[in-house]
Amino acid sequence: MIRPQPHPGEIDRSYFGAVRRMNGLPDDDSTVALMAEWAGVPKWSPKTVSVIELLSQVAGVSLESFVQQHSTLAFRRAITSRRPDVEHGSIDNRSLLSSSGMRRARSAAYFCVDCIHADQAELIRSSWRREHQMPGLYWCSKHRVGLSFTDAEDAFARSPSEFLDSPAVVDEKWVAGIRGSEPVLRYLDICDGLLDTTMPFTVAVVRDALRKRARIAGIRCTGRGQNSRRERNRELVSDRIQTLFPKAWLDLEFPVFVSKCAGQMLQSIDGVLWSGKEASSVGAYALVASVLFRTGDEAVTAFMAQKSMHRVAPQEPTSHRLRRLYVEGLGSYEAIGRKAGAASAALLRTLADLGLPDLGREPDGLLIAAKQFYVHGRSIRESAAVAGISHTAIETLVREAGLGLRTAVLEIEERLRQLSSMVS
Ligand SMILES: [Zn+2]
Repeated sequence: MIRPQPHPGEIDRSYFGAVRRMNGLPDDDSTVALMAEWAGVPKWSPKTVSVIELLSQVAGVSLESFVQQHSTLAFRRAITSRRPDVEHGSIDNRSLLSSSGMRRARSAAYFCVDCIHADQAELIRSSWRREHQMPGLYWCSKHRVGLSFTDAEDAFARSPSEFLDSPAVVDEKWVAGIRGSEPVLRYLDICDGLLDTTMPFTVAVVRDALRKRARIAGIRCTGRGQNSRRERNRELVSDRIQTLFPKAWLDLEFPVFVSKCAGQMLQSIDGVLWSGKEASSVGAYALVASVLFRTGDEAVTAFMAQKSMHRVAPQEPTSHRLRRLYVEGLGSYEAIGRKAGAASAALLRTLADLGLPDLGREPDGLLIAAKQFYVHGRSIRESAAVAGISHTAIETLVREAGLGLRTAVLEIEERLRQLSSMVS
């Protein structure tokens, strides 16, 4: 398989398209099939390994760094209450990576004609930039020209150079107007700041950080039904946004503003200041932040500070919790099973995987033998003699306790096989 180098700042779908084209494959399915075969994933399905995971392996970088540098996930997942403790691109979030790891952040595919010409002059292929696929941006920050775009369904599967001849171009005059708008620049800077984070913020953290600023700025922070008269007289953040932002840009990016009149509350915008639920898009939070903070850095720093105030005691890792259960049940699977009830089968399997074997209903013999072997460093023969149990019984115990190592040895062997097949 030909493994192209991902370009710096190239969006995931563009790299996927490059893998497909360079290997002469007819469609996405055959591209995934080839990558899965190369990565040694038999019977691939999105549930076993996500496409973005395969891409990171083909690119030869860790999954986290591929996701953080080549996808828009860090932005799309910047504010979430689902698994906020998990880093963007972590394998612990595989179902999310499978379902929306490579989702687009805007509907058309955008490119800068000058960037593509530069690619053609310097590189063997041209690529779609992640920066240009961020919502709200209509010009290239490097070349200061308006972006071009295409609505073609399969745009990212093709080279952007294919669209050079007949590009749809965003109107330069319109772009010039937008580019001079401080609030739009702040909005884009905040989106950029969020794209740069490695972990998400919870809805409550961002809400509380925004509220602190909003109160100082005289903006209303409570919804209907919970208003004091004083609060009711304060300005709605959606009103302030509507006054400050260019109408054409605002209506395009946030259509909820198209028919809004002054004083009319927009739950998806104003609500970010009081709602604890994930009801608004990340863009809505960035929009509100852009009238409360001066830069993306300032906003992200305030979110970080708020996060450290919200931090609760970290949850005990599963392995620690299971070991505690094992100790409480004196190593007897029967006792632990009785305690765990319906969930006991899976739990006992995990205990075995962790190398915590069943010591039996009356653990005396095995427990004494284990103590002699593991704590006092005696041989298997000596430990068996002291505990008065058979040599085989303690050998089995030691083997079961090493189940984690056994699994790892098998996986290492598999890995060595893959490496040697890559070389040959
Ligand atoms: Zn450019």
